[in-house]
Amino acid sequence: MKKWVYEFHEGNADMRPLLGGKGANLAEMTNLGLPIPNGFTVTTEACTDYYTQGKQISQEIQEQIFAALAVLEEQRGKKFGDESDPLLVSVRSGARASMPGMMDTILNLGLNDVSVEGFAKKTGNPRFAYDSYRRFIQMFSDVVMEMSKSFFEGILTEIKDAKGAKYDTDLTADDLKEVIARYKAIYAEKMGAEFPQDPKVQLMEAVKAVFRSWDNPRAIVYRRMNDIPGDWGTAVNVQSMVFGNMGNTSGTGVAFTRNPSTGEKGIFGEYLINAQGEDVVAGIRTPQPITKLAEDLPKCYEQFMDIANRLEDHYRDMQDMEFTIQEGKLFFLQTRNGKRTAQAAIQIACDLVDEGRITPEEAVLRIEAKSLDQLLHPTFDAEQLKKGEKIGQALPASPGAAAGKVYFTAEDAKNAHEQEGEKVILVRLETSPEDIEGMHAAEGILTVRGGMTSHAAVVARGMGTCCVSGCGEISIDEDAKVFSLGGYTFHEGDEISLDGSTGFIYKGMIQTKEATVSGNFGRIMNWADGFRRLRIRTNADTPADTANAVRLGAEGIGLCRTEHMFFEPNRIPKIRKMILSDTLEQREQALQELLPFQKSDFKAMYEALKGRPMTVRYLDPPLHEFVPTDPADMEALAKDMGMTVEQVKQKCDDLHEFNPMMGHRGCRLAVTYPEIARMQTRAVMEAAIEVSREKGFSIEPEIMIPLVGDKKELKFVKDIVVEEAETVKKERNSNIIYHIGTMIEIPRAALMAGEIAEEAEFFSFGTNDLTQMTFGFSRDDAGKFLYSYYQAKIYESDPFARLDQNGVGQLIRIAAEQGKKTRPNIKMGICGEHGGDPSSIAFCHDAGLTYVSCSPFRVPIARLAAAQAALNRKK
Ligand code: PEP
Ligand code: MG
Repeated sequence: MKKWVYEFHEGNADMRPLLGGKGANLAEMTNLGLPIPNGFTVTTEACTDYYTQGKQISQEIQEQIFAALAVLEEQRGKKFGDESDPLLVSVRSGARASMPGMMDTILNLGLNDVSVEGFAKKTGNPRFAYDSYRRFIQMFSDVVMEMSKSFFEGILTEIKDAKGAKYDTDLTADDLKEVIARYKAIYAEKMGAEFPQDPKVQLMEAVKAVFRSWDNPRAIVYRRMNDIPGDWGTAVNVQSMVFGNMGNTSGTGVAFTRNPSTGEKGIFGEYLINAQGEDVVAGIRTPQPITKLAEDLPKCYEQFMDIANRLEDHYRDMQDMEFTIQEGKLFFLQTRNGKRTAQAAIQIACDLVDEGRITPEEAVLRIEAKSLDQLLHPTFDAEQLKKGEKIGQALPASPGAAAGKVYFTAEDAKNAHEQEGEKVILVRLETSPEDIEGMHAAEGILTVRGGMTSHAAVVARGMGTCCVSGCGEISIDEDAKVFSLGGYTFHEGDEISLDGSTGFIYKGMIQTKEATVSGNFGRIMNWADGFRRLRIRTNADTPADTANAVRLGAEGIGLCRTEHMFFEPNRIPKIRKMILSDTLEQREQALQELLPFQKSDFKAMYEALKGRPMTVRYLDPPLHEFVPTDPADMEALAKDMGMTVEQVKQKCDDLHEFNPMMGHRGCRLAVTYPEIARMQTRAVMEAAIEVSREKGFSIEPEIMIPLVGDKKELKFVKDIVVEEAETVKKERNSNIIYHIGTMIEIPRAALMAGEIAEEAEFFSFGTNDLTQMTFGFSRDDAGKFLYSYYQAKIYESDPFARLDQNGVGQLIRIAAEQGKKTRPNIKMGICGEHGGDPSSIAFCHDAGLTYVSCSPFRVPIARLAAAQAALNRKK
């Protein structure tokens, strides 16, 4: 019989895939002899089975759960559902990778109308017993039955107001009885059935709810954002309850062994006296700093510190711990490697190396490559910051600088960002998991309630979004979409700035400046560079982007999209003129006008590269991106070309294509109009020869022909390039070496790569087009319908962001193998968007590519991901 349920002492930290992170760590802590309330874990495989069985928990799994429950009853000397001294449990999810805020927790399970009386008598604390029951009803209704929280919050607020109570703790036992009666009434009204009284039914419903929550929309969004496979499933932990709400010698808290925002060494956390777990995280009451525990309950503090240090030593990493104190006795409920900002991750990794606890290899492996993005975003310009008008300060919950327009709901924030391209600051009373997409869209988050470990803070840190939380000075009306602070009133669309490192809030938008790779960040990058095999290049088409990429560590340009060099308003008419030319003379004249721009840009880029290589990709303008549509543009063009507006319109109509992405673009243009390739060759060659001579760099131009599908097609364009290049060399009396290669971005090119390599000195995989044409999904439109594919579980992630290793990856492998057979030293890289995606970079390492090329801001991410790929393979 398969084992679906493990008691804590039966597991260990290595069993994370089966027991989930929380379950594996509870097992490990139990084995370390720490004070952990007894319990058991229902495995992630049981979750997968639940889905396979059509959302049913099998008889066998149910039996194993009840058997483990019987053991728990024996250990605690209490019976589940007992009328005088009931065993109460918590039911919590625990996936393999931690998913904060995504899954749900139920506490105090096992209480019903009868056992609550016994529980009151047994504990001698009726207030506590009724409070526990009302919390249970609330959580069960919300998490299991999916009733809106607002019903319960409304009732609680009404009764608090009626009784003149400020906090929940001000309510008496009788008040709470009234709360319970009203909770049950609303439950019966909305659910059409009484609140379930059988604890075993409560338990099975709760387990199912955890399994279900694996697939709630928030969890799916989070998984997609964090590359977590949908088939991992979540485990469920059932643990005997300990109570932090039994009076003033009880409490509950969360703490980190190092600061999760900055990485600074030292205990960091907060707790609440006389409270239950969710009170701290939900941010309803503002908690005390953990150091205050030393005054309130010194023995507990001492023991807590001792265990915290032991756990950090044991795991050799910063720990994020949850604990509860029940009447002076300390229990640990969870430990895990704490989520941290990129800044903290780097600080911690370097400190652990300096403390001799981990090696530089381990340090490099510990930093999530994608998270470096946080460090590459702008910070406030110091001069501008001095001039900013400070209107408030709250907790610096997640670092970074953010300036934008305020929005009051996640949906408004998301829409303003996605549809209007606005920079958005999400302002909320407190955030909840439903807000995740709005938080993702926001530059910064500002909350009225909540501490450093509130939902907003934890999630913002995970995303690397700036967050300032717990600003009690704000008075907010979310429905009216208005808040006031520091004597000002802000409506939707008004501008503010947040400094997530200091917690300061400013009126208006403060200018930001670019980040640099230095200090510990530079140290990690240097280590990574020593471990990687892949070279890192960048996709850049302007001298400014080139300089930026070089500053961030790019070793060359892997893709210079020459058509992008003509996007500027004073240049685009010239390329339009070329596209719309009727005759060879007209086109050559237009090309002559383009040549000086092209050549001077190439020169500036070669200079910025200081001898590093550059792959120049020849014109590939999908016509629909370049043909004028605006009447004023058409008029200007008509004037410039000596045509009537009607003629220009007619010409545009003639050029109209039904499938422009599969149209007259890439090398097809050069096949029709060889003079384009000739002009570009002249520009590249002259620029390279001049910069080599002027600056003393040894430059070998790399010329890349796009959208090739056949060897003869490449050969046709290559012959033109060679002829012109040789002419320039002769004219300039130069013996410069140049290379001609191609993009592999059409499935046919991948399949014919063996032949194509006879003509191509290098391949660069254009995985944007290769993905587009392999899936048959338009790269410009697929985003509109891919969401349905995620929901239907057909695809888990966007294939344009994360390389489809099975399909598109197979084409890359075929092309790489065939290419190498023909030309063993062929250089191969990737220059589609995937070149900056860590999982795709690992694939490129495995496929034996020479380099990846990505946008300038992703260069450090790629450096780290390439090192991680190399180190992981070595392992
Ligand atoms: C590609 O197709 O992957 C590529 C890099 O070229 P572009 O995005 O310019 O089509
Ligand atoms: Mg392409």
